[in-house]
Amino acid sequence: TDPALIRNFCIIAHIDHGKSTLADRMLQITGVVDDRSMRAQYLDRMDIERERGITIKSQAVRLPWDGHVLNMIDTPGHVDFTYEVSRSLQACEGAILLVDAAQGIEAQTLANLYLAMNADLNIIPVLNKIDLPAAQPEKFAEELAGLIGCDPSDVLRVSGKTGEGVRELLDHVVRTIPAPVGEADAAARALIFDSVYDTYRGVVTYVRVVDGHLGKRERILMMSTSATHETLEIGVISPEPKPADLGLGVGEVGYLITGVKDVRQSRVGDTVTSATKPAGEMLAGYEHPKPMVFSGLYPIDGDEYPELREALDKLQLNDAALVYEPETSAALGFGFRVGFLGLLHMEIVRERLEREFGLSLISTAPNVIYQVVMEDGKEFTVTNPSEFPAGGKIATVREPITKSTILAPSEFIGAIMEICQGRRGQLLGMDYLSEDRVEIRYTLPLGEIIFDFFDQLKSRTRGYASLDYEPAGEQEADLVKVDILLQGEPVDAFSAIVHKDKAYTYGVDMAKKLRELIPRQQFEVPIQAAIGARVIARENIRAIRKDVLAKCYGGDISRKRKLLEKQKEGKKRMKMVGRVEVPQEAFVAALSTD
Ligand code: GDP
Ligand code: MG
Repeated sequence: TDPALIRNFCIIAHIDHGKSTLADRMLQITGVVDDRSMRAQYLDRMDIERERGITIKSQAVRLPWDGHVLNMIDTPGHVDFTYEVSRSLQACEGAILLVDAAQGIEAQTLANLYLAMNADLNIIPVLNKIDLPAAQPEKFAEELAGLIGCDPSDVLRVSGKTGEGVRELLDHVVRTIPAPVGEADAAARALIFDSVYDTYRGVVTYVRVVDGHLGKRERILMMSTSATHETLEIGVISPEPKPADLGLGVGEVGYLITGVKDVRQSRVGDTVTSATKPAGEMLAGYEHPKPMVFSGLYPIDGDEYPELREALDKLQLNDAALVYEPETSAALGFGFRVGFLGLLHMEIVRERLEREFGLSLISTAPNVIYQVVMEDGKEFTVTNPSEFPAGGKIATVREPITKSTILAPSEFIGAIMEICQGRRGQLLGMDYLSEDRVEIRYTLPLGEIIFDFFDQLKSRTRGYASLDYEPAGEQEADLVKVDILLQGEPVDAFSAIVHKDKAYTYGVDMAKKLRELIPRQQFEVPIQAAIGARVIARENIRAIRKDVLAKCYGGDISRKRKLLEKQKEGKKRMKMVGRVEVPQEAFVAALSTD
């Protein structure tokens, strides 16, 4: 295709503002999907995406429109996947900024808009859902125009549901988004903006050709790893994969298949070039995915450990950002320490493990990565509280911080500031987007955000606040490790790294919880919370004489036997911490947030 006839664009929107629905309408209106085979959210392929209404993996579709080729690149909308979003944006020249006409701008709208502006994209502001009785197009057109610096009359209005305004929007894309530019005769360079594992075909790599040409049966080179492969198939998606025998030229968007079985061999952000005539320089901006949040994952039934390992191995084929290594816990048995990009990523992985692999899992409280420097100058990285030095010779601890943006109706300013202050937040600034909506910016430790922050924010603002955050380096902080001990034995799964001001609350809460959950033993069991050797909280489980048979008054033999059997079965699910028998359920219950 002549690059002058190509338009590459994406849709950026806050969750639920109607991106998938609008994409569906575009597929239908351009005739790529006929009315008979249309089903809702055609492009959201994973079940979990469709159910939760979020887009995890981006996709690209080619739409013919008015003599042009439009490539619509779907981006994941969530903060955990900012890097993936930025690569998808890099593959485009323009972006449709889609805003729900009944809701207005939200935190993710802003975050993604800033990414799009950084990538120098042409922005088309669009209000969606204008069919809704609650829509306030005048008000929000003004908000949107103020934000990107255009006239309110430049804001398009559509309904992805009814299709109103969608044709005009497609025309607008052709008219205002620049055609791609690249050097047709140069060595091939294509940006990988997504790569997806497919059980039947292996890894499907989505690329945007920047310079040159990629063909079928060509030896290609992945520039970040120097690995070479052969393109077995190359083509475009419209809306199903269609092989293109002529290959892909400047500005084109499509997929290639080389037979590799693991997405880590075809990394998002990497540059594909020809192995026989390689480009001198790779495209800018490649980054290795970096896990930010860690948690222990254990099978509730210890026998399922091999299945858990297998499931993680399989998931990793499709998720280059997922990392894990085996770990053993006295309380929970054999499991894995798993690294995630963020909280949503963690939830998605856990849900997929449970749903697609039928596992029942328990996870320890999430933690971030800490940099610890000892007084003797030794330095190390802690991704697991159990690796945190017990006390004494620590010189400094550094933790990751974020720049967080919260959008909410202005009546909630007080509540929001209270939550942020309570989590060591530092106010960076505040702006009114309209009379009654504000944007509040804070520096917040990532470790505070991953601990129940979002739920609190939602409940204190009746669901109206939206949050977005980006990494903003590290800071020194007064952090300590709190251990929980049963009869003097530490229970590893409950150790946590917390700010010194919160250590006491954490210790007291945990000790109380465990006192309620652990059954009485034949002897007294002290529960302690401690920082190093210093005990900061203490509870006691009083002793009982635990003789179940005494209840049976001699007589009934079969009843006695039943009781003994029941007790034996119960034992299997008991964990020993020193001399203390703890039912695994107690640990599970103590770890699950209420
Ligand atoms: P996404 O999260 O941005 O992909 O949003 P979806 O496309 O999944 O839409 C979220 C919800 O809004 C769904 O319940 C849609 O049916 C609804 N929705 C999307 N577009 C429109 C629209 O134009 N009008 C109305 N009334 N509802 C819409
Ligand atoms: Mg969607």
